[in-house]
Amino acid sequence: MATMNATLAGAFSNPDTYLGVFEEVSKYNVQLNVVERLWAAWYLWMQNDTLATGIMSFMMHEIVYFGRCIPYMVLDRIPYFNRFKIQNQKIPTWKEQWECASLVLLSHVTVELPQIWLFHPIATYFGMDFGVPFPKIQTMALQIAVFFVMEDTWHYWFHRALHYGPLYKMIHKLHHTYSAPFGLAAEYASPIETMLLALGSVGGPILWVSLTGELHLFTMYMWIIGRLFQAIDSHSGYDFPWSLRHILPFWAGAKHHDVHHEKFIGNYASSFTWWDWALDTESGPEAMKRRRDRKMKAAKAKKAQ
Ligand SMILES: [Zn+2]
Ligand SMILES: [Zn+2]
Repeated sequence: MATMNATLAGAFSNPDTYLGVFEEVSKYNVQLNVVERLWAAWYLWMQNDTLATGIMSFMMHEIVYFGRCIPYMVLDRIPYFNRFKIQNQKIPTWKEQWECASLVLLSHVTVELPQIWLFHPIATYFGMDFGVPFPKIQTMALQIAVFFVMEDTWHYWFHRALHYGPLYKMIHKLHHTYSAPFGLAAEYASPIETMLLALGSVGGPILWVSLTGELHLFTMYMWIIGRLFQAIDSHSGYDFPWSLRHILPFWAGAKHHDVHHEKFIGNYASSFTWWDWALDTESGPEAMKRRRDRKMKAAKAKKAQ
């Protein structure tokens, strides 16, 4: 907290409301943008950094997760958008969505909430900064790109392992309840799976900061928001002509993971297609055809010898 205390020295004249603190911070720190002021005022007002980060992280997760699912729930009810649905004969019912959302919320409260308080002390121990001002946008973008690559690698291997018979039955089967996924199903999983796969999202940045000494909590939040969008979009069941995968050919998008839910095998990575491509674990009819063609070619070559 050294940066913030140095920047804001003398700015705090004991106001007792959050807005009062915000006004004080704004008066003496005109160089900060509005988000940085709101951020600094939050930590000054809370007077407990672990609690401040914990509450903010939990709230952010809930707002982004459920907030991002709402537009897809609306699209499901508009027949025009059905043409963009990958398995378009399967529209989730309200009952299915309600049951799914309830379990996700229960898991957030019983699994995530007790552990969230550990993040601040662990991350700051390894050198994470949470003062103001925030880092440059280029720094954040580069780190977020690295976190996407790290998480995708983690996800590929652990997700693939979760498809091993006994582990699948014990842990991962719950996530495969919905063979035609929808946004809310992104975090519909057993607590063990949630913890295991969440380590890929949180462990990457912690490893990064322990190696480079450079990471800001705000960057971490931007990364988590990006990762939540990725997870929800890939479960949404919608592939639009303007979806990111049509611009970035190695971006997995919804198609990749939707096929995984439909076929229960292959396409194990989360954000990118390169692991499944390189290790020949791609799923779906095109991948099967490619595999068949390759086998036929090999058999022909053998005959010709
Ligand atoms: Zn799976
Ligand atoms: Zn899934």
